[in-house]
Amino acid sequence: MEPNAREGHLVVISGPSGVGKSSICRRLVDDPRIEMSVSATTRPRRAGEVDGKDYHFLDRDEFERLIQTGGLIEWAEYVGHLYGTPREQLERTIDAGRIALLDIDVQGGRQVMEHYPDAVTIFIDPPGGDMAVVEQRLKGRGTDSPRQQARRIERARQEFQQRGFYRHRIANDDLQTAVEDIRRIIFQ
Ligand code: ADP
Ligand code: 5GP
Repeated sequence: MEPNAREGHLVVISGPSGVGKSSICRRLVDDPRIEMSVSATTRPRRAGEVDGKDYHFLDRDEFERLIQTGGLIEWAEYVGHLYGTPREQLERTIDAGRIALLDIDVQGGRQVMEHYPDAVTIFIDPPGGDMAVVEQRLKGRGTDSPRQQARRIERARQEFQQRGFYRHRIANDDLQTAVEDIRRIIFQ
């Protein structure tokens, strides 16, 4: 199957923290036609994360320089840290005829919608549309301080309110089903 030319080659995945975006994206990139966009961030690296693979971990000065030189197609502040999509990798992916997959927050998603109206935008809903499931996961994750957890939960609720901006909505009740639903959207 060829990617749908009308839809373009940019796929945005957004959704509340803990809903399963990274898990979904990890499976989607098993397909050689799809390449994950590696974001820049000022967030400290979590155990197990690899610089250049999970994120480009930058200090605030380096990140601000990227903004000033037009090196990011979008960027946003998320619970105290900056996150952005590097332009160079994205253009390389698209020029090579591949699909660029972006796991970004709703602020970033809305910037992409404005600049790339053909982008395929997908919001991931929690199981049964119930945010309580996601909130329990965030509390149990252990990677964030209680204060960070509370801020992420608050932010997750705000993001959920904005789900209507996305062209597609997929519930992540069952991971494999969600991945298949998304593959169908991308290669319809
Ligand atoms: P996000 O990237 O949106 O923050 P993650 O992919 O890190 O979310 O997933 C958060 C947690 O939920 C992980 O422990 C992951 O294994 C789990 N998870 C993801 N999808 C499902 C699912 N469909 N059913 C049960 N657990 C899931
Ligand atoms: P985390 O800290 O859990 O890895 O990510 C926090 C949030 O930042 C998630 O919603 C994730 O989708 C978002 N994010 C990751 N990279 C980017 C990016 O490049 N731009 C924007 N706007 N958000 C991002």
